[in-house]
Amino acid sequence: MKAHDGMYIDGAWRPAASGETIDVVNPVDEQVIDRVPAGTAADVDTAVRAARAALPGWAATPPAERAARLAALRDVLVTRKDEIAETVTAELGSPLAFSQAVHAGVPIAVAGSYAELAATHAFEEKVGNSTVYQEPIGVVGAITPWNYPLHQIVAKVAPALAAGCTVVLKPAEDTPLTAQLFAEAVDEAGIPAGVFNLVTGLGPIAGQALAEHPGVDLVSFTGSTAVGRRIGATAGAAVKKVALELGGKSANVILPSADLAKAVNVGVANVMSNSGQTCSAWTRMLVHRDQYDEAVELAATAAAKYGARIGPVVNAKQQARVRSYIEKGVAEGARLVAGGLESPSPQGYFISPTVFADVTPDMTIAQEEIFGPVLSILRYDDEDDAVRIANGTVYGLAGAVWAGEEAEAVAFARRLETGQVDINGGRFNPRAPFGGYKQSGVGRELGAHGLSEYLQTKSLQF
Ligand code: NAD
Repeated sequence: MKAHDGMYIDGAWRPAASGETIDVVNPVDEQVIDRVPAGTAADVDTAVRAARAALPGWAATPPAERAARLAALRDVLVTRKDEIAETVTAELGSPLAFSQAVHAGVPIAVAGSYAELAATHAFEEKVGNSTVYQEPIGVVGAITPWNYPLHQIVAKVAPALAAGCTVVLKPAEDTPLTAQLFAEAVDEAGIPAGVFNLVTGLGPIAGQALAEHPGVDLVSFTGSTAVGRRIGATAGAAVKKVALELGGKSANVILPSADLAKAVNVGVANVMSNSGQTCSAWTRMLVHRDQYDEAVELAATAAAKYGARIGPVVNAKQQARVRSYIEKGVAEGARLVAGGLESPSPQGYFISPTVFADVTPDMTIAQEEIFGPVLSILRYDDEDDAVRIANGTVYGLAGAVWAGEEAEAVAFARRLETGQVDINGGRFNPRAPFGGYKQSGVGRELGAHGLSEYLQTKSLQF
């Protein structure tokens, strides 16, 4: 487990200026497992000053050297993979095998991709009589959620460092131990003091202070639409760039020519994975009316197999929130075919894998992000109807389309107002741009598109 217990600022570990701490709770047994400093505006200010002071040196570091430090960071994450998985399991509650494969595995792949991109990206190009330079935007304020604790951090910090930016990170209060481990890895990788800084603390205190700090040039936020909207407004007033990864309510559209059983089973697994706490989860399954009853039966059977194996949701508040959505689904007339309010475990913040049938597009459970293991199955009449339903929410983060022929699925996917679509179960690609249409956000993460969020251009004319 991690050797340091504090905030990592300017290359050193320190307590919060206030001396206050926040409890970290294991959602499986509801026990306090650790405490971390509760940073305030004073700590944020110290961290931003450190990041500003480190900026000229890091921005001037040749991309090849920045790439070497990122490769070293990736290597440390590989060495500490088991510790990362155990830490995520302890504070998020996800099953260990999932933590190893996804919570540790994906950030390693993303860190590796930015080590390569930093080495190969053209930070300079000729356009006619001009030379265009891509320069770092400056100091980045990164605010991350708890659902994929390390991935959310690496998806912001790795491209920012590759670009030559310096960073102050405020991770989610539910999962700060993973962030402390990451800070240790940054230190071990030889990344200079001040280039990366960690301030743990509460969102409305430390997070807000970071979002509002005049020394921050770009705020990169992942989390709820409500907080994202405020951060966007603050950044807009300061004429500051902002990147927002917000909620989702993705559609999984099963066209009549698809392999129905495969599409339903993969669809259920997608929603239940990480206990439904995935912003891109396909929480609305759209099935043609002729195949509807069969799909509902398949989904109910598939969901019933998961039980408590999916792990709990992150905290008591989320558990209550997800339960209230289940109640609302029943009250609005949806038919519960799996799960429900009964918990699969007497202890911990568990929710039964839940499936609703006879869900109509206007119901709350078909419109709002639940962020728990709850699937809604909707009926469509024809392809135009399916497009209308799929596009009929304020969100547009991800989605899936299944069809007998890839070309048919692609043609349908092009009509969806969403940033990512998986075709016939296509695999997650850590280099493909990830981000939302509509209220799912502003900007893109991952790959070259994610790198460009942290760069600004300067053109010299000759
Ligand atoms: P949240 O938006 O409250 O928190 C996300 C991050 O923002 C955390 O680090 C938090 O401390 C910080 N924060 C909170 N208030 C802040 C403020 N006023 N100023 C600055 N920073 C602030 O989200 P949450 O409570 O973690 O989850 C609630 C909902 O957010 C979920 O149910 C889900 O709908 C959504 N969510 C989306 C994603 C995603 O990846 N798109 C991830 C997690 C949660």
